[in-house]
Amino acid sequence: MEVRLASGLQKDSIVDGSGIRTVIWFQGCLHHCYMCHNPETWDLNGGIVFDLDDIKEEIKNLKYQSGITLSGGDPFFQAESATEIAKYAHECNLNVWCYTGFTYEELIEADDDKKNLLKNVDVLVDGRFENEKKSLACKFRGSTNQRIIDVPKSIEQGDIVLLYED
Ligand code: SF4
Repeated sequence: MEVRLASGLQKDSIVDGSGIRTVIWFQGCLHHCYMCHNPETWDLNGGIVFDLDDIKEEIKNLKYQSGITLSGGDPFFQAESATEIAKYAHECNLNVWCYTGFTYEELIEADDDKKNLLKNVDVLVDGRFENEKKSLACKFRGSTNQRIIDVPKSIEQGDIVLLYED
């Protein structure tokens, strides 16, 4: 299987989720938020095509990382490949954060591929970037409408459980 990424893996990030993380920048996003920080990742046919096995190999060899973060772009536009990556990261004892322009409510009503990705994510940072709600005080997110969601607990309780309440 292949995956289209904006760039290679970025190790040692401390701003894309808790702990020290490796970020995987997915190519492709159709949300087109005003003042998006990464418009070059919008084109679904842009970026670089990687073999999923090569990405897994890089994940297997990671050292001193708390987990991986799926970002972009929006990983939910390549949900099947992103699910494979998330599952493999868990096999390697790495937790999985995922950034998306979709809301949690949209994803639990979405197609099977998107729902499957959601189920394989530990923490979801959801919602489009809203420039009028931009805040530098927001932990790990760009605007105050975005939420940091504990996905397993939210699924279990049938309601949104936030990881941070700031
Ligand atoms: S969801 Fe993220 S990558 Fe997509 S347009 Fe909005 S800010 Fe940009």
